[in-house]
Amino acid sequence: MINKNTPLKEVLKLAHPCKCDACSNGCNYGSGFLAGDDAKKLAKFLGVSEEKLREKYLEEAEQFNKKLLRPKLERKHGKPYGKCMFYDKKEGCRVHEAKPMQCKLAMGCKNYGEELMLWFMHNHIVDENDEKSMKEFGVYLKSGGKALKDA
Ligand code: SF4
Ligand code: SF4
Repeated sequence: MINKNTPLKEVLKLAHPCKCDACSNGCNYGSGFLAGDDAKKLAKFLGVSEEKLREKYLEEAEQFNKKLLRPKLERKHGKPYGKCMFYDKKEGCRVHEAKPMQCKLAMGCKNYGEELMLWFMHNHIVDENDEKSMKEFGVYLKSGGKALKDA
């Protein structure tokens, strides 16, 4: 349905602004990466500057040699994972209207959910111009990782 080069506008048409427990379960163990102008939108939503947003609400994480930002995780007992600081058991995502792009694309119950996650990986994480990123991506593919086709 989608490929590596599908434009964001088309991809977002598949990401319905729904909110239910099935998807939210993941928010107990991690958070989604921001991309594009997400930081700007999230800062506006929270009524803080982008600088304050980074300092108070976001943390950096690395994948395929790319540093990305995501909402801070509340880790317990030194575990690498934890609940997203914006997740509330009763309310769900407290920044739903301005949540990170990777969260928006998390469509757990759709048969194209995995493709959306792969689209994000190709377009916002793996960097074709970075040798180390491509090397790590090669290792991922060799170990059975999935990828999308070019158009
Ligand atoms: S920002 Fe919202 S949707 Fe994303 S991980 Fe946090 S609680 Fe979940
Ligand atoms: S994509 Fe499906 S599982 Fe996820 S929030 Fe929407 S309805 Fe729930």
